[in-house]
Amino acid sequence: MLIPCLACESRFGPDEYFSACSDYNRGMDLVSWTCPRCGNRDDLRVLPGELGFGYPYRGRFDVHARVRVPGLRRQRGDLRLDISLDRASWRVSTRLRQPA
Ligand SMILES: [Zn+2]
Repeated sequence: MLIPCLACESRFGPDEYFSACSDYNRGMDLVSWTCPRCGNRDDLRVLPGELGFGYPYRGRFDVHARVRVPGLRRQRGDLRLDISLDRASWRVSTRLRQPA
C-alpha cells in the first residue's frame, strides 16, 4: 500500500507518510502533512479507510478528493489523533499555541 503526494505524485509507504503528519487540528479535524520529497504542505482528514483532501470553506473543511487506504483507523484524543494501520500506529499531536 503506497500513498501518493497529490502535488508531486511521489508515493510513500504508510510509515513514511504518516510520520510526516503534524499538528492535529481537533476543531477542524485535520492534520497537516508535509511531503518529504517536494515540501508541499497539505491539510488532510484521516477517516476510516481513507484520507480526505480538500479546502477550508466558511469555517469548515470540504473534502474534494479521497484516497482509499484500506484498514486505516483513527482515534481522536484531546490533544492528539492516533492513526493506526495494520499493526502500526502513529500519534499526531496538537501544537499548542502560545496565548498572544
Ligand atoms: Zn510531494
